[in-house]
Amino acid sequence: MAGIYIHIPFCKQACHYCNFHFSTSLVLKEKMLDAICNEIVIRKNYLGDKDIETIYFGGGTPSVLEVQEIKRIIDTIENNYKTNTKEFTLEANPDDLTKEKLIELRSIGVNRLSIGVQSFFNADLKWMNRVHDAKQAITCIENALVAGFENLSVDLIYGTPNQSDDNWKYNIQKLVDYNIPHISCYALTVEPKTALQYMIEKDKTQAPDETIAAKHFEILVDMLRENNYEHYEISNFAKNKKYAMHNSSYWKGAYYSGIGPSAHSFNGFSRQWNASSNALYIQNMKDEIIPFEIEYLSEVQKANEKIMTSLRTMWGLNLEEFKDAFNENNLKQLLSEAKYDLQKENLKLENNILCMSAKAKFFADGIISDLFFTEETFVN
Ligand code: SF4
Repeated sequence: MAGIYIHIPFCKQACHYCNFHFSTSLVLKEKMLDAICNEIVIRKNYLGDKDIETIYFGGGTPSVLEVQEIKRIIDTIENNYKTNTKEFTLEANPDDLTKEKLIELRSIGVNRLSIGVQSFFNADLKWMNRVHDAKQAITCIENALVAGFENLSVDLIYGTPNQSDDNWKYNIQKLVDYNIPHISCYALTVEPKTALQYMIEKDKTQAPDETIAAKHFEILVDMLRENNYEHYEISNFAKNKKYAMHNSSYWKGAYYSGIGPSAHSFNGFSRQWNASSNALYIQNMKDEIIPFEIEYLSEVQKANEKIMTSLRTMWGLNLEEFKDAFNENNLKQLLSEAKYDLQKENLKLENNILCMSAKAKFFADGIISDLFFTEETFVN
């Protein structure tokens, strides 16, 4: 099993907190489509003869593309790869999803939408500089459900200044009421070189408060558990086992090919990432050269990656598998590092599976990085 990720590096406007790679000018859109289709062809042997089971359009904002433009990319994939597509996700912003477009998207095979709602309050959306408003968020969810998108994911952001507990509960409840099967929630973070960082430095807005974010995370986990969602990854919740197949395969170490500027690829022993420049990417692809950097993973990196991706999910880290892959000495070392967090009940060990406890999930990244090996502690 393998996946293809397509990065569409355009957005209508820049959200204040975002540091993904995108341009707000769509002038290069046509040339970018040519370049992306070229890369799909050039990369066709990267994943060996694996079947493509998941296709994910991310960005940026893939929904700025016309449906025929998305179809052109899909046709190129289908003409060059062995596809057995089970999940075809398109990230979308509410203002792009008209009733007609939703129907057309379904007709070309999109079977999952990941909608960037972020909040149902106009004040929050304005503060974030989102392009849509609360009414468009509601309309697009309703239209997507009517169009027959059963596999729907909605993103929310918490920890924004001035977000009250009640407003946060309202946002969550809204998704519960619509019976949205998959919900992704992210704590607001201040990324370098973003408008948000600049605004905080210039005292134009408040920095996010970690205590409030932790409280909102707790509210989130409790409300969604009470409504039968599984908290299957730190930021992701699913009902009726509607886990995100594409993202889950990242966490399980499956191979994927990333197409487009800034996209990442992984084939078990190396990681590649394309240049984060639209102009450079287009120019290079004209000459049939993919502008990427590559890193070959050492055994230490592979072990740390396994620890990180496994502990972020509810399936945890299978210690028997870890021992088979990285030897008994390293397993002992890992368990010795985990001792403190096991005693503190941040981690739990059941049936030889190491997992994050519910109460520690908000701080998972710090706890996980404490378990990482260094070149000195890892035994080859
Ligand atoms: S729409 Fe998404 S990718 Fe574009 S700026 Fe906003 S958060 Fe970033």
